Amino acid sequence: THFGFSSVDLDAKQTLVDDVFHKVARRYDIMNDLMSGGLHRAWKADMVAALAPSPHRALRVLDVAGGTGDVAFRTLAAGGQRTRVTVLDINGEMLTVGRERAGGRFGERIDFVQANAEALPFPEGSFDAYTIAFGIRNVPRLEVALAEAFRVLRRGGRFLCLEFSHVDLPGLDRVYDAYSFHVIPALGRLVTGEAEPYRYLVESIRRFPNASLFTRMIEGAGFGRVTARSMTGGIVALHSAWKI
Ligand code: SAM
Repeated sequence: THFGFSSVDLDAKQTLVDDVFHKVARRYDIMNDLMSGGLHRAWKADMVAALAPSPHRALRVLDVAGGTGDVAFRTLAAGGQRTRVTVLDINGEMLTVGRERAGGRFGERIDFVQANAEALPFPEGSFDAYTIAFGIRNVPRLEVALAEAFRVLRRGGRFLCLEFSHVDLPGLDRVYDAYSFHVIPALGRLVTGEAEPYRYLVESIRRFPNASLFTRMIEGAGFGRVTARSMTGGIVALHSAWKI
């Protein structure tokens, strides 16, 4: 069982998610900046800093649910010539925006693949690192996505996941709730004409496991040395793990 959902529910969930990102693809980046007050940039910078790409070592990165390319661009900019990133997303619209944003800037070092995080089209051990930012909570079968992450990494490979978590600062939790339930859908309506996709967004954050449960799920997929770092009062958590 996947949190008590039937497989029909899970397929319906993916369809809903696909609709959401289909609708927002063109405005995705501006919405990110608006809704997070620019904070998503700092969170992504932290994940890339944890990965520590460098000109001194070759690194093959798979950025899953990579959307419009933010994490990939940052990784490539930090890593230089020996870093390569495959941006994978289920949604072709998001990838199209990503390709346009890359604009040939990274040449052969970046590529875009449309596929499902639950069925990665790569052989075992293909990558040195797997990154996923604000993507895994959209994937209906979390355990399947984690098993796939484990499979495509080489031994010694790194797993990094940035995701919304659960606010753990007294006081901030109430502000955050008010912001999530009122401000986010209103902003969504203002910029895209629709509030519904943003209600989905808030709901999906609520349902996502907290940092310690998610840690156990990552361990359950076979990973070792799993750690979780809470950021901005628990709004976001960065999970790190190794295939050992
Ligand atoms: N990583 C990017 C970022 O941080 O800006 C994009 C995050 S966006 C909130 C979530 C992305 O997950 C969307 O582009 C969506 O298409 C993608 N996605 C949803 N379900 C997926 C799945 N099953 N497999 C791969 N990608 C998926």
